[in-house]
Amino acid sequence: MTSLKELQNLHNGLSGKAARIFAGACRGYCVVPPVFIKVILTYRCNLSCEFCSQPRPDPLPPDITLKDIEILERNIRNSFPARPRLHLFGGEPSIHEDFSAIAGYLNARGYAVSASTNGALLYELRQAFSGMREINVSLNTADLGGTQETLARFGRSKEGRRARVTLACPVTDFSRGRLAGIVERFQDAPVQRIVFQHTTLPGPLAQGRDMALFREAVAAVKKTRFRIPVSFFPDIRAGDIGKYYCDFCFPGKKCGCLYPWFVLLVRPDMSVAGCNWLQEPLGDARQEKLSGIWNGPLYRQFRDRALYAEAKSAPCARCCHRTYY
Ligand code: SF4
Ligand code: SF4
Repeated sequence: MTSLKELQNLHNGLSGKAARIFAGACRGYCVVPPVFIKVILTYRCNLSCEFCSQPRPDPLPPDITLKDIEILERNIRNSFPARPRLHLFGGEPSIHEDFSAIAGYLNARGYAVSASTNGALLYELRQAFSGMREINVSLNTADLGGTQETLARFGRSKEGRRARVTLACPVTDFSRGRLAGIVERFQDAPVQRIVFQHTTLPGPLAQGRDMALFREAVAAVKKTRFRIPVSFFPDIRAGDIGKYYCDFCFPGKKCGCLYPWFVLLVRPDMSVAGCNWLQEPLGDARQEKLSGIWNGPLYRQFRDRALYAEAKSAPCARCCHRTYY
């Protein structure tokens, strides 16, 4: 995930009918530069979570190079008047051989950098992580104790003490029945927020499971005040949980996606994409100015399509970035 807190804030600000009407009236044109540029350093990962929904091209392309990062940085500087947040993403970005060098390079050029990580190398690479605006650590639900221990070690280090960490907990068969228990368990962890991420693959979860119990678990967490704030992404109302997981017509085709109005994505081969889940490239960050791509015909067409993304069609159907309300 991109910086969860800020994406959620943007969603809250942009969701709703008025924002969609405004975006529709612009016919795909975006007057402001991207708020985030999400940079996929590698598609490789050192874990194989069963709930993983990250796309993995086959064959895997080579990782982005440090040289490409330098080209990208120049392109951003020449394209946009303000520096967007750069979010390092994967696969698992920290296994990129130049992860520390890339984070340091971008920091040195004045960018706010953040990253999503499974946390396996959080302590080992604490120096690189410590310079980041925000770190999203995904909870490994198969090893809660391991994540707890890693976070504690990181938090005790001098680098970890100044880091802002969001613990991102995927809603899986395992975590679904234990939402409150997981929150309680991490109340002493060095994290600023806990975010439960509803699955983007609700089909298998929904089959034959008791949605009423799950709905009550979500409602209970939402109404409890924990020391560490807890939220859900997307923020589905407790009463709509059954529909989200079992009824593919929810929320109705008029609820599209405003994500491509504030995020631009760069893949390891320097192709630009509108979002992580749609494969067709919208430009090439080695060859074209990003500002040209951002409001070029392909990007504008993509925004138009995303705005009216249909409820039933993959991959938008249960994407956390679409506007459900
Ligand atoms: S850590 Fe993330 S990218 Fe890696 S397998 Fe798990 S969910 Fe997928
Ligand atoms: S809703 Fe669709 S267009 Fe928007 S980010 Fe998700 S997959 Fe991409």
